[in-house]
Amino acid sequence: MSTILVTGSAGRVGSRVARELLAAGHRVTGFDLRASGIDHLAFREVLGGFDDRAAAREAVQGAEAILHLGAFMSWLPVARDKLFTANVEGTRVLLEEAAAAPPKRLVFASSGEVYPENVPDYQPIDEDHPLKPRSPYGLSKLLGEEIVRFFERTGGTPATILRFSHTQDAGELLDPGSFFSGPRFFLQPKIRQQEGFGNVAALAALRAIDDGREALVLSRNEAGRPFRMHITDTRDMVAGILLALADERAAGRTYNLGATEPVDFAVALPMMAQLTGLPLKTIDLPGAGVFYETSNARIRTELGYEPQWTFERMIGEAAQARVKRAS
Ligand code: NAD
Repeated sequence: MSTILVTGSAGRVGSRVARELLAAGHRVTGFDLRASGIDHLAFREVLGGFDDRAAAREAVQGAEAILHLGAFMSWLPVARDKLFTANVEGTRVLLEEAAAAPPKRLVFASSGEVYPENVPDYQPIDEDHPLKPRSPYGLSKLLGEEIVRFFERTGGTPATILRFSHTQDAGELLDPGSFFSGPRFFLQPKIRQQEGFGNVAALAALRAIDDGREALVLSRNEAGRPFRMHITDTRDMVAGILLALADERAAGRTYNLGATEPVDFAVALPMMAQLTGLPLKTIDLPGAGVFYETSNARIRTELGYEPQWTFERMIGEAAQARVKRAS
């Protein structure tokens, strides 16, 4: 039994990781702005921002391993300061505090946006792909990676960087209120998202197909190529994180973590329409669109990682969750 600090312990990934570690008999410290709702004798919770030095000092107490999974995710210009405070300053302050009594292992949740996946030099994108983020969020994650490697070099704690695929709970996929799936798959949430981004051309195209009824939307690029991207079930991400923590071979390594096959929206959206009975609209959005495949070959080969949740499996669970929400 050891004490493991899980940051982002109220989040999608962190809360599941914390619960799994508790179930395996570890002591867990959670660190998040929000309460996790985890009620367990071996669970201690510190509430505060990662950049709050006093809170960070309290959080790292006794930690033999740190899973730094918490971060702020936003692509809105208004959230820029908050983004860098949480993901860059927060990571720096947390690890500076950890340096007083260095943990034996560190695992960091980075993102495919460090490449970035949306504008790759080549595909499938592997870990040797040049790092050239285009979004402030991707930049904040790349800076986080640098801070993690600096901590490893100077403090001697072996670190594993996991570049996360896009990750969701299966139940979110058919939920128009979901932070990710709403704007990705549902017409009206997508319109609201594009309003937030101020994308005038996309907005005009989307409004032209909106008749006021709830609808799913199949996004394609301006040449009519359907979007394609990885969507990984949270449970598969949790399995990869726990593997990286437990396996000595992961020390010092960087891995892409996510589903093996990308999701082709031209296949997925008709399935979603059939399961929900919702009308399906097609939209050709300005620009090159989203179209990538990321390789998880390194973590599969080196650590034996094998994701279990295909999109087909996830969507079956999503349909059940949608029925449950409606009743
Ligand atoms: P999430 O938003 O569900 O959870 C993140 C948690 O971090 C939240 O509970 C939030 O309250 C907490 N947090 C945010 N800012 C904080 C701060 N300044 N101080 C303390 N706590 C703070 O995210 P998730 O989906 O569980 O993602 C986990 C990790 O994976 C994050 O680092 C994220 O950047 C990364 N990631 C996620 C995805 C994805 O698609 N979900 C993709 C790539 C990378």
